[in-house]
Amino acid sequence: MVKQRLTIGIAGAGIGGLSAAAFLARQGHDVTVYDQFDEPGPVGSGLILQETGLAVLGELGLRGAAEALGAELHRLHGIAKGTGRTVLDVRYSALRKRLRGVALLRPVLFALVYEAARKAGVTIEPKTRIINVSRADGLLTSGEGATLGVFDVIVDALGVRSPLSDLPRVKLPYGALWATLPLPEDGAFRSGALEQRYDGARKMAGVMPSGRATPEGPETATYFWSIRAGDYAAWRALPLADWKKQAVELWPETERLLEPVTTHDHLTFARYAHRTHWPVVEDRLVHLGDAWHATSPQLGQGANMALLDALALSLALSVRGETHERLKEYHRMRVGHVRLFQAMSYLFTPVYQSDSTVLPWLRDWLAAPLSRVWPAPPLLAAMVSGALGSPLKKLHLKPAR
Ligand SMILES: Cc1cc2nc3c(=O)[nH]c(=O)nc-3n(C[C@H](O)[C@H](O)[C@H](O)COP(=O)(O)OP(=O)(O)OC[C@H]3O[C@@H](n4cnc5c(N)ncnc54)[C@H](O)[C@@H]3O)c2cc1C
Repeated sequence: MVKQRLTIGIAGAGIGGLSAAAFLARQGHDVTVYDQFDEPGPVGSGLILQETGLAVLGELGLRGAAEALGAELHRLHGIAKGTGRTVLDVRYSALRKRLRGVALLRPVLFALVYEAARKAGVTIEPKTRIINVSRADGLLTSGEGATLGVFDVIVDALGVRSPLSDLPRVKLPYGALWATLPLPEDGAFRSGALEQRYDGARKMAGVMPSGRATPEGPETATYFWSIRAGDYAAWRALPLADWKKQAVELWPETERLLEPVTTHDHLTFARYAHRTHWPVVEDRLVHLGDAWHATSPQLGQGANMALLDALALSLALSVRGETHERLKEYHRMRVGHVRLFQAMSYLFTPVYQSDSTVLPWLRDWLAAPLSRVWPAPPLLAAMVSGALGSPLKKLHLKPAR
């Protein structure tokens, strides 16, 4: 139990906000979380928990539950159309024999951290849209005009479109259409790999086994199709069959998987953005998760980074001292890892999603062969698993695998 009891307001009940709330309430702080949702529960696709995120869930006692419902991933594997060349081949075991990722449905992860926060005694206030903050006074303003607080610490965990951060956002030109589908029973897509197929950098499709919603539920796969944000309206205007034809041409093995997709509404469009908000600590306000550092999900790190931030914040506030100094300690614990992964994501995203012809050519004919030569395989596995920059060591954690 922490000696100094703080009153903490968390804006945003996503993965980052709820896990931070659970950690901080367990330490004895008085925590309230606000979200705009009517009922708790996110929509969305599958996501990959890396060893970084799994280790943090372990600290919350949730690792076993996540692993039980998730699907193990051992490899990321991509093939270019036309040449049939393998141009992405990252094996977790290249870094450590037993290392792997766990893919699971976003609502499953949400339910785990939501329950943990609730059990820790966090007050969760739905139907509250946050529109402003008074950083020095520790006050939040809701869309209905209510003033919330006074808080010793306010955590901005409002995600990529947080109104509490005021920097310009770089909207990436590409996003993706996503769907969660039943995993076909013919054995396809069960090799423990996230599979991708590319045609240059303009076309990309991916399939990831993403576990089950309940222990008895059917196994799922998450499918994604890369699309230019500006082309989304035109895609909706075309008959779905035209798109399906393209999708199956790029990747014939997905025909069965895509059978349940019968209307445009079965695919959800997500537009990606890249931005890093500075400063991280502004008087009593601190930014966390996507509200601090948002990227395309190309490296599959966002939820893991939010979990790492949540643990770091609670560790920083578990030590007695001047609150502003403790918040700066949170910044120090995370800043190196955040900078590293923001830079890597910024560099890697156009290699897979852009209008460039040069980048995919370099990827297929230069980077792919080099990636098989030591030390590339363990380095790539360290990047994909989030281990580069040793983020767990800074939080006094050891990887379980
Ligand atoms: C398609 C897609 C695939 C992804 N795949 C992966 C993956 O494989 N692995 C991975 O680690 N990450 C992945 N990510 C990224 C990951 O989902 C995010 O990084 C992560 O959810 C960030 O958590 P967060 O708590 O910071 O924000 P969020 O989870 O976005 O939570 C923000 C919360 O704030 C609430 N909110 C927003 N605005 C307001 C407001 N004004 N007032 C009140 N409440 C508000 C929202 O309702 C939400 O509950 C993916 C993202 C996308 C879009």
